[in-house]
Amino acid sequence: MKTLADIAAELEGYDPQALSVDRAREFLARLIEPITDTQAVDIFSALDRVLAQDVISPVSVPPHDNSAMDGYAFDGSQLVPDQALTLTPVGTALAGQAWQGTVSAGQCLRIMTGAVMPAGLDTVVPQELASVAQNQITIAANALRRGDNRRFLGEDLLAGSIALHKGERLTPAALGLLASLGMAKVQVLRRLRVAYFSTGNEILSLGEPTREGAVFDSNRYTVFGLLTRLGCEVIDMGVVRDEPERLEAAFTRAAAQADAIITSGGVSVGEADYTKLMMKQLGDVAFWKIAMRPGRPMAVGRIGQAALFGLPGNPVAVMVTFLAFVRGALLQMMGSGAKAPPLLRARSAQSMRKKPGRTEYQRGVVSSGADGRLSVQITGNQGSGVLSSMVQANGLIVLSHEQGNVALGDEVDVMMFDGAI
Ligand code: AMP
Ligand code: MG
Repeated sequence: MKTLADIAAELEGYDPQALSVDRAREFLARLIEPITDTQAVDIFSALDRVLAQDVISPVSVPPHDNSAMDGYAFDGSQLVPDQALTLTPVGTALAGQAWQGTVSAGQCLRIMTGAVMPAGLDTVVPQELASVAQNQITIAANALRRGDNRRFLGEDLLAGSIALHKGERLTPAALGLLASLGMAKVQVLRRLRVAYFSTGNEILSLGEPTREGAVFDSNRYTVFGLLTRLGCEVIDMGVVRDEPERLEAAFTRAAAQADAIITSGGVSVGEADYTKLMMKQLGDVAFWKIAMRPGRPMAVGRIGQAALFGLPGNPVAVMVTFLAFVRGALLQMMGSGAKAPPLLRARSAQSMRKKPGRTEYQRGVVSSGADGRLSVQITGNQGSGVLSSMVQANGLIVLSHEQGNVALGDEVDVMMFDGAI
C-alpha cells in the first residue's frame, strides 16, 4: 500500500497548499485501492452493482433467425426490380411455435414478430405493405428489398462472446441483457461500506433543542443521499462533538467497520478544534488547500485500512467536493471502471466573473431554448452554505482552472447531476 509520502514524491509539483483540482484527482487515483471481495447476487439485487468478472454469453441472442414484423415471410430471391410480386400463403408461424411445413416458390408464410424464420426464407413483407385478395398477397414494385425485416441469429450476441465487462456497473439495460442470456444470478463486488459523521460544536442533530449560535446538521443528510445513490452501505455515526476522546472513538470505530470514512467540518485553516489533530494522530493524512470554489480545505488519506475524506463544513462545499473528488474515488474503490461522464456544453444565460487559477463550480439549471440549443442559468445565491440554490440546480457549471470571465452567451461546461444527486 502506498503511503501519502510515496504518492507526493510521484507527483511532480505537488503542493498541498495550492493544489489544482486535476492534481488532487490524480493523487486520489493513486491512493485508492479497489476492494476485491465478490458475491453472487440475484438479478433483482444486481442493479448498480459492479461486475466482478466478464460475463460470457452461454447462448446466442436471438437464438434463431426470426421475423422483425408481423407479415409474410418468403424467399426474397423472387423480388424483381420494378415488378410487383404475388404469393400464396400456405400457413402461419407464430412466435414460440416453429413452422414445420415447406414454403415453395410462389408461396409465403404468414409470420408474427419473433417467430422463427423457416430455412430458405429470408425476407418479410410487413402486413401493411401486403395487399390481400382472393387468398393471395401482392407486394407492390420496389416496396421491399431482399433480407428486409429479418433478424439474424446472434445479431445481439453470439454464444462465447463477452456480453458485459468486469468493472461495469449494472444498468437496467444490463439487467435485461443478463436475463436474455438466461442468467438469474451474477457475480459482483461486495458493496462498499462508508461511515460518515459531522463535526463541530455548533452542529445540532435533528430532534435536539435549538440554542443560540447552533445550526442543524445538514451535511449528514446530503452525504447519506449521495452515498445511497452510489449504492454504498452507509454507517451513520451522528454528530461528534469536538472533544479529543469522542473524536478518537469515532475515527477508531469508523476505521474498524468501513472501507471509507467521510467527515464534514473542522478541516479549514485556523480551526480551533481537534478534528485535524486527531486525523493526524490516528492516520496518514494530508491537509489540502485546493484551488477551487466552493470547497478549498479538505483532508485525505487513510486511518487504518479505511480511506479518509475530510470534507469542509459548508453544506454546498460538502456536496461539490463529494462530486468533484469523493464520488470518483469511491467508484474506483468499488471496482468500477467507469470514466467520469462527459461534461455538457451550454450557453451561459448570464455573464460571470471568474478568476483564472482556480476551478469554480456554479449551481445552474440547463434547459433547451427555442432554437433547440442548451443554455444554463445560475440558480441565485451562490454562497457556499446556501443549499436552496443547490436544490434548484440540475447541474454544476464547471469553470476550469485557466478560464477567465464568462460573457453572456459564451459556451460553458456543465456537470449534470443525473442520478448522482
Ligand atoms: P467549518 O469547516 O467547520 O469551519 O464549517 C464551515 C461552516 O459550515 C460553518 O458555518 C459551519 O457552521 C457550517 N457547518 C459545518 N458542519 C455543518 C453541518 N454538518 N451541517 C450544516 N452546516 C455545517
Ligand atoms: Mg467547524
